[in-house]
Amino acid sequence: MATSFIDKARITVKAGNGGNGVVAFHREKYVAAGGPDGGDGGKGGSIIVQVDDNMSTLMDFRYKRKYTAANGMDGQGGRKSGKDGQDLVIKVPRGTLIRDAETGEIIRDMSGSEPFVLCRGGRGGWGNMHFATPTRQVPRFAKAGLPGESHDVILELKLLADVGLIGFPNVGKSTLLSVVSKAQPKIANYHFTTLYPNLGVVWVDEGVSFVMADIPGIIEGASTGAGLGHDFLRHIDRCRLLVHVVDVSGSEGRDPVADFDAINAELTQYSPELAARPQIVAANKVDICEAPENLERLRRHVEEKGYTLVEISAAAHQGTRELVGRVAQMLSVLPPVTVYEPEYVPRPAAVDTSAPLDIQRADDGTWLVERPWLQRLMGNVNFSDYESRMYFDKTLRESGLFQRLEEMGIQDGDTVSMYDFEFEYQR
Ligand code: GDP
Ligand code: MG
Repeated sequence: MATSFIDKARITVKAGNGGNGVVAFHREKYVAAGGPDGGDGGKGGSIIVQVDDNMSTLMDFRYKRKYTAANGMDGQGGRKSGKDGQDLVIKVPRGTLIRDAETGEIIRDMSGSEPFVLCRGGRGGWGNMHFATPTRQVPRFAKAGLPGESHDVILELKLLADVGLIGFPNVGKSTLLSVVSKAQPKIANYHFTTLYPNLGVVWVDEGVSFVMADIPGIIEGASTGAGLGHDFLRHIDRCRLLVHVVDVSGSEGRDPVADFDAINAELTQYSPELAARPQIVAANKVDICEAPENLERLRRHVEEKGYTLVEISAAAHQGTRELVGRVAQMLSVLPPVTVYEPEYVPRPAAVDTSAPLDIQRADDGTWLVERPWLQRLMGNVNFSDYESRMYFDKTLRESGLFQRLEEMGIQDGDTVSMYDFEFEYQR
């Protein structure tokens, strides 16, 4: 059954946490009090998604659903930084959409080859060596690392192909693909043969080629979930052109006109937009055509609707070059394959700011501000992004932090220190 082909998966990914900075002081024989030399925590590993062209399904995600990158190590004395956590690279087939599991919004269309950072590792905390200033000789504080980002996502495969083959099972789609490209799909004389989509590159001419996809056969009722098909139709969503293969041999007692209409009706039910996609009709198995009048009926029927019909015998390699030429010609004037724009707007995970922040005064007058929710918030703030900084500022303001600092007597120019972030207070 169709279940052996996995083209949708829900996974949880989590980047590594940053390591903690440490408090340490340089010690040497005969040296009474050395300077602060506590090193920084290492950065947490990120979750990186990358296309692998050897993959054609999301099968690998069927059983493994949690992906966690390594944490950064804590810093050490002697100014030694902790080791960074290793990034975790998740490989997906080309054309995989990454969606937010909650909203379904597209985060990224993995159509290109550049790696995508899905979750950033947490920044490491600073060791006390960073906090030594002329007025602060003995910093007895260091910072905890920040948590790595995490996300529940849905992976959804939408193949990247110029041309999609459609038609009933057994009409010769896989045979056609194997003849015009180097792909070697399974070919068998029984229905439901193709359970995995197959992609093949079709070389037309010097510098001209296109990608053709053979998807599992559509059966009647597929668009309403009757069996194979519905799920598979999404694989041709992106195709610029459909080659509609019809068996005109009459060998299985099929009526090619009825078949043609049934498939198009399925397409319309699934997506009117897909049904309106340009089609070329490949009338196949003309080598064993027992009912030439069938072929002529089909020709009149489709030409009336404005489609082009090409007679072929995929098995005997008849008419296939002509078909390829027609396809290439039509593709040359069609818009490129759809690449989906991201819809997802990162919203820093809503943090519960009701627990009051923990404010302490260090020996040197620095205001140290901490709290687990602040740590989480900062793990999600990208300080190089304006919107993100504004959000951070607003959240702090609303938590009442600045008001409390005022009440505690903060002065302009005082240093406020929170995790890996220090700033000079200005009213
Ligand atoms: P699919 O289910 O549409 O992918 O069909 P296949 O490519 O697996 O072919 C189904 C059967 O039809 C196989 O036995 C093929 O050898 C046969 N076949 C495909 N094309 C032709 C053709 O042009 N002529 C003849 N005689 N048989 C064909
Ligand atoms: Mg097949």
